[in-house]
Amino acid sequence: MSTAYISHPDCQAHDTGEGHPENARRLSVIDDKFISSGLWDFIRGFDAPEVTQAQLLRVHTAEHLENMEAAMPQQGYARLDPDTVVSPGTMKAAKRAAGAVVLAVDLLMSGEMNNAFCGVRPPGHHAESDRAMGFCVYSNLAVGVAHALEAHGLKRVAIVDFDVHQGNGTEDIFVGDDRVLYCSIFQHPFFPFTPPPENNERCISIPLEATAKSAEFRAAVNDHWLPALERFQPEMVFVSAGFDAHQDDEMSHVSLTDADFKWVAEQIVHIAKLSASGRIVSVLEGGYDLQSLARCVETHMRVLMGLI
Ligand SMILES: [Zn+2]
Repeated sequence: MSTAYISHPDCQAHDTGEGHPENARRLSVIDDKFISSGLWDFIRGFDAPEVTQAQLLRVHTAEHLENMEAAMPQQGYARLDPDTVVSPGTMKAAKRAAGAVVLAVDLLMSGEMNNAFCGVRPPGHHAESDRAMGFCVYSNLAVGVAHALEAHGLKRVAIVDFDVHQGNGTEDIFVGDDRVLYCSIFQHPFFPFTPPPENNERCISIPLEATAKSAEFRAAVNDHWLPALERFQPEMVFVSAGFDAHQDDEMSHVSLTDADFKWVAEQIVHIAKLSASGRIVSVLEGGYDLQSLARCVETHMRVLMGLI
């Protein structure tokens, strides 16, 4: 498999201040892991382009774009909500983060690459069409999904979201769109404290209790995600790849292991081979324990690359 790793140095320039869990080290430990493990020699790296206004406007309101431009400080920090800190480097990072997912779609649709992982920040799945929240400015993955639908004319796109937090932004943007199947698993009740979406043919959302471990997670995937994905026959599979359900990650209570994240990546690869010619666009969301994050992303990449 030819796998793209899409990122940009600008994503490190999004400074969230001392002690913030969503910080630039999250990307540098991933780079370090790729190098120390020898994986870097096998990765095709791409610089993320800046997303365009037109690409953002497919999923966000014009008012949201204006608000974000206006909210960015010239120096120091500003807060978009109690958790979401922005600084002078944030806008460039946010535009690269969303642009990465657009490039990933183009690389897969042209046949140049089979799948892609976007190592970007700020993350995206809490950003709704008209508001930033939960560390997220733009809904990166949603921008890519909309690009696949509108610019490439795909008819069926699946999103799987294994971040420990419910992806309220992704859900907000695609609810009611018959072209999109959204599958998620998340700790509940928990941030973002919105009611879980109602399940239907295009929305498979599985809440987990705080005590959940491997068995509950794998049962949710096996019993709910995989049958829905097989029925839907997506032409492309997007992944909100958050690693904050890891047992070492203090951001949540759900306790998954390295093996669970490897297993779920293998299931996604299997599904993508059935109907999507293997096309997977995976996008980093959460994951705040630096060591488990680096290990799990490296393994995620190896699974995408077909190396394990
Ligand atoms: Zn999360």
